[in-house]
Amino acid sequence: MLKVMKKKMLLVVMMLVMASGFLFTGSASTDAKAKEVKYLGKYKLTAYCGCRKCSGKWGNRTASGKRAKQGRTIAVDKRKIKLGTKVRIKGKTYVAEDVGGGVKGKHIDIYFKSHKQTKRFGKKHGVKVYKIK
Ligand SMILES: [Zn+2]
Repeated sequence: MLKVMKKKMLLVVMMLVMASGFLFTGSASTDAKAKEVKYLGKYKLTAYCGCRKCSGKWGNRTASGKRAKQGRTIAVDKRKIKLGTKVRIKGKTYVAEDVGGGVKGKHIDIYFKSHKQTKRFGKKHGVKVYKIK
């Protein structure tokens, strides 16, 4: 009887080990969050619009050729984030479509329709930014 118990225990332990091993390797490859999102670090956020003061002669035209759109367009430093990259900031998804002379390093400029809104947004420091793969 005891022998049988031991055998059963061993089997259970082996199964657990296998299962945890599977889960462990599985979590590295199937954890949707870890796979689809990459943490880029803490960024400084500023805001801009298509007005002369913010964009000069460019207006709403972005570096990628598309028209800037509030809630989607952000300007980035191409050395940090490639154009076309989807970026997650505070739970919202934006697309890196533009660049800016003043946008360098860990700095993202968020597009708004009006200058008033850019003023309201102001500046934010140390905001966690994620790249969506
Ligand atoms: Zn403006």
